[in-house]
Amino acid sequence: MNSFDIVVIGGGPAGCAMALDLNHRGYNVALCDQAKFPRDKVCGEFISPGADPILKQLGVLNAIEALTPKRLRGVAISSYESEELRIDYPVATGGGLRPTSLSVPRYKLDALFLKQVQSAGVKVFEQHKVTDFIFNEGCVAGIQGWDETKSSFSINCKLVVDAGGRNAVSLRKLSLKREPKGSSKIAFSAHWQGVRLPEDYCYMHVSRPGYTGISSVGNGRANVVLVVEGSALTGMKKEKPEAFYHRVLMQNRRRIKMLQSGEQVEPVRSVESLAFSVKPVPCGGLILVGDATGFIDPFTGEGIYLSLRSSQLAGEVIHAGFKSTDFSNNFLSVYDQKRQREFGSKFLLSRVLQWLIYNRPFCNRVMKSLSSNRVLAETLVGVIGDIFPAEKVVSMRFLSKLLIGTLKGNETLDMPKVLK
Ligand SMILES: Cc1cc2nc3c(=O)[nH]c(=O)nc-3n(C[C@H](O)[C@H](O)[C@H](O)COP(=O)(O)OP(=O)(O)OC[C@H]3O[C@@H](n4cnc5c(N)ncnc54)[C@H](O)[C@@H]3O)c2cc1C
Repeated sequence: MNSFDIVVIGGGPAGCAMALDLNHRGYNVALCDQAKFPRDKVCGEFISPGADPILKQLGVLNAIEALTPKRLRGVAISSYESEELRIDYPVATGGGLRPTSLSVPRYKLDALFLKQVQSAGVKVFEQHKVTDFIFNEGCVAGIQGWDETKSSFSINCKLVVDAGGRNAVSLRKLSLKREPKGSSKIAFSAHWQGVRLPEDYCYMHVSRPGYTGISSVGNGRANVVLVVEGSALTGMKKEKPEAFYHRVLMQNRRRIKMLQSGEQVEPVRSVESLAFSVKPVPCGGLILVGDATGFIDPFTGEGIYLSLRSSQLAGEVIHAGFKSTDFSNNFLSVYDQKRQREFGSKFLLSRVLQWLIYNRPFCNRVMKSLSSNRVLAETLVGVIGDIFPAEKVVSMRFLSKLLIGTLKGNETLDMPKVLK
C-alpha cells in the first residue's frame, strides 16, 4: 500500500491548487482523479480577475496565458431583453490598470493545471476513483477505490483533502449534502463558433425561464450557458434537452442577434440540482475544498476563484496541523471559520442577486440604478469579480441605492427575505 503525507481527491481547480500549495510547502502529496484528462466540464469558463494573483502565486498563470485565452473587460447585462449594459472591472484599491478576467475552455485549463501539478512533483493517479475512506481511531487516515483496470487500490496518509466537486465522495459517504428547498436549477452548456459578440465582455441575458452567459473563450469559439428552473424542463416532458436548449436560447431577441450567425459545435451538456449546501465534516483527518463545500448558483461566476481561495485557506490550516501534529476535527474546524469569515458576505450577495434576477420589476430597477450610476455599477462588478471585498456592497446603504434609489413618489418595494 502507498503512503503519503496528504491525499487530494479531485484534479479540478480546487484539487490542483491544493496539491500545488501543499507541494510548495514541502509535503509528500498524491492526487487521485477518476477521470482521464483532458476531460470537459459544464462551466461558464470565465475566471474572476481576483484569481490572477493566486494563479500567479501557484506558478501557473504564464502557462495559462500561453493557451491564448480571451481576456474579458467585464460583464454586459441585459434585463428581460433590454439593451446590454456594459460594466468594466474597476481598478483595484491599490491602483494600476483595469483588471480583466481569463476566459478559457475548462477542457484545456484543467488538463494544463493537472500537468503543472505533476511537473511540480505531486504523484498524480488519473482514472483512480476513490470510493471510501480508511479510518483510524475515528479519523480519516487514507482512501481506497478502483483504478482504470478495475483493480482496487488504497493509500495511507495523515490527511485527506476532498476536492471532488459537487459529487465528492465525502458528501455521499458521510451524508453531508443538503439539497435546497423548492425547485432546483438545471444548467446547459455548449461551445459555438461564428457567434457575433460585439466586444470582449461576458454577456449575461436575464429573462424567463432563466438566464444565459455567453462569452468568447478564444480561437473563434464562444461558450453558451443556459440556466433555468428545473420546472421549466419538467413541464416539457417530451422535449429533448438539445431542443429545449435551442428553443429557450432563441426566445430572447438580444440572444438571437448574437447566435443566429453561429453554429453549435458539440452536443449540449447539462448539470442538475445546481445549488446545495454542506454540513460540517464530523471527523478529523478530512478537509473539503472547492465545490465540495457547497454551491449556490453560477450567476456571479466565481466558483473557480472560490475553489482556489478555499484551497489557500485550507493550506494554512493543514500546515499548522502538521506543525502541531493535530488533525483532529476540532483543530481543522478553524478552516471552516476562516472560510465563513471570508466568503459569508459574498454568499449573501449571490443569494440577493439571484433573488433579484428572477423578479422582473426588481431586475429592471437595479439595471436602471446601475446605468445611471457608474460608480455603483463598477463597485458591484468589482465585488463579483473578487477585486473588492463583498463587505463593500453588503450593506443596507448600498442595497438601498441599488434597489430603491430609483423609486418614485409613494412606491414601496418588499425587501428580499434573505435581507430581513
Ligand atoms: C453552469 C455552471 C456555470 C459555471 N460558470 C462558472 C464561471 O463562469 N466561472 C467560475 O469561476 N465558475 C463557474 N462555475 C463553477 C465552477 O465550475 C466550479 O466552481 C469549479 O469547477 C469547482 O472546482 P472543483 O475543483 O471544486 O470541482 P470540479 O471542477 O468539479 O473538479 C472535481 C474533480 O474531482 C473528480 N472526482 C470527483 N469525485 C471523485 C472521486 N470519488 N474519485 C476521484 N476523483 C473524483 C472529478 O473527476 C473532477 O475532476 C460554473 C458552474 C456551473 C454548474
